[in-house]
Parts: sequence; structure tokens; C-alpha cells
Amino acid sequence: MNNPPIPSITAMNQAVDIVLSSRHPENKVAATVFKDGNSLSKTNDWPPAILEKLGQDARVGDSSGTVHAEVNCLTHLTFPSEGGSLAITDPCCPNCAKCIAEAGITSVYIDHKGFEKDFAVRRGDEFQDMSLRILAHAGVSLYEVIRKENKIRLLYEPPNGYIPPEDNPIEIRPCRGTLSDDTLLQTAKLVKVKHERWGCALATDSHGKLWTLVASAHPAIGHTQDDFYKTDGKYDFILEPMNRILMGAARKGLKISQNHIWCSVLPSPREMVNLVGYGVRKIYIGDLNAAKKPASLSSKETLEANQIITFEEMSLSTPA
Ligand SMILES: [Zn+2]
Repeated sequence: MNNPPIPSITAMNQAVDIVLSSRHPENKVAATVFKDGNSLSKTNDWPPAILEKLGQDARVGDSSGTVHAEVNCLTHLTFPSEGGSLAITDPCCPNCAKCIAEAGITSVYIDHKGFEKDFAVRRGDEFQDMSLRILAHAGVSLYEVIRKENKIRLLYEPPNGYIPPEDNPIEIRPCRGTLSDDTLLQTAKLVKVKHERWGCALATDSHGKLWTLVASAHPAIGHTQDDFYKTDGKYDFILEPMNRILMGAARKGLKISQNHIWCSVLPSPREMVNLVGYGVRKIYIGDLNAAKKPASLSSKETLEANQIITFEEMSLSTPA
């Protein structure tokens, strides 16, 4: 029998209950993904391999070594996130907003105290200008939770019947092959329309059935190639292929095979940290010298030198 749906205030309390256990010295954040009777709460955290080998202060390329609470939740779910909700102790950053949209979350709840913290104020413009816009375009409803009054205040609701435009959704298909490098290579070779940065992975569902996931770098859900916005800051509106694949798997409740991930170029440092957080130790790369930004190269060096993750070339021109 299914458990009754979890109320959003309960989900927020679950996040608040663990937020102080975050190892981050300054920015302690927690999140709960919840859907029907299922929920999972996580704080922001360093993946064990990064914490053990690099410590808390090391940078991975231009990224911190931490996985944000929202992504930490979404990459550890045992239920599909599609149609689910997310409660966060703090306003989300634009990178997490893109992931939340890609994971098919439909409602986001933010604790009212999160808007008052120092770093939330510093981050205010990014939240207003980017995170909010990303969530709105994806058709996500946004609420503020005022716990002490047991109240929920609507901050944004998509227009009735709004369906976000999606010109290049992630492809998730049943796979007839076996779980092998060869199947991964064949999957990559069969992809017809290739973006400069794209990738694929093999994954299994709860019945052990094999699936393929294929995704290109693309503006966040609800933005199309024609209308995405460029920013000069730390963030942009593009969601990179490995993050799309991680979130696509979360959306459908699939578990990505940690040895069967392929990316056309070196992933971004943020993607690499998220992959390490997922438990990935090896990734196949089409062209080891190509990347969106140079920071990927230093990030690769750091992670390889410390034996956190290895990068092996698997070129599509290799005979199968
Ligand atoms: Zn974030």
C-alpha cells in the first residue's frame, strides 16, 4: 500500500532537521525531494573521494568540490523525480535551477529564513534574474514556506495549461544490447544529430532492464536555442550534457551504470564534481583535448592525479 503524500511543510522540516549536519563551514543548505509518500533529504556535501583526497579547500577547476544539496538529493533518489516536489532551506542557484527543471520537478518550496541569510542576499540577483526565470520557463511553481506560522505563500505559478517548449529533449530509450562498452559505443555511433557537446550513458531500471540516455548541451527546459540568454557572470542558461543525463536518470528513476558514460568532450568542472558525487570513477571521452572551457583541463588533471576519476578516450571513429 502507498503511504499518503508528504505535506510540503513536513518535507521542509525534514530538510531543516539535517541542515546543521552539513560539513560546509559557512553555507549549510539542505533539501528534500518528495513525491507521494516518498522522500529523500540531503545537505550540500563533498563527495567522499573528493573530501578524502583533496580536502574541503581544494578547487576542482573553477568549481568548488561540493555537490549542492538539491543535486545531492536528485542523484541519490530511489524513486522517479518526475512530477515531484523539492523543499530547500535556501534559494537555489541557477545551476541547481536548471537541474531541478531537467529532473521534472514541478513545485519548489523555499524556507522564508533562507531569503534572509547573508549569502542569499549576496546571491539575490542571481536568484531573481536567473534561477526564478529558469524555474518559470520550465513551468515550476514556486512557494515560500513560513514554518513558524505553518503557512505557504505562492511566489510564482505558471499560467494555466503552460507547457514548456522543448526543442531538444533528452532521449531515454529501452536498449536491446548488453551492459558493455560495445553497447555504449554503438549507442554513441547511432546518434545522428550531434551537438558540439553531447553524451550518452547506459542505465538500468528497478527491474534490471537496460536503457540508453542521450543528451546535448542545451538551454534549460522551456528555453529554446533561439531565445536563450547569455550572461557575463558565473552562470549561463545552458545545461551541460552530463548534468542532463544525471537529471534524466533521476526523472525516470534509472540508475546510471558507473562504467558506461561517454561524453564528446571533457565535461565542465561542475559536471565532473557531480559525477564523482554520483559514484562515477571512469568516464569515456570522444576528444580528450576538447572542452567548453579551459578549466575542464585543470579539473581533469586534479581528479586524475588524485585517482578520483579516470578519463579514457573512446573515439567514435574507432572500429567497433
Ligand atoms: Zn546550487
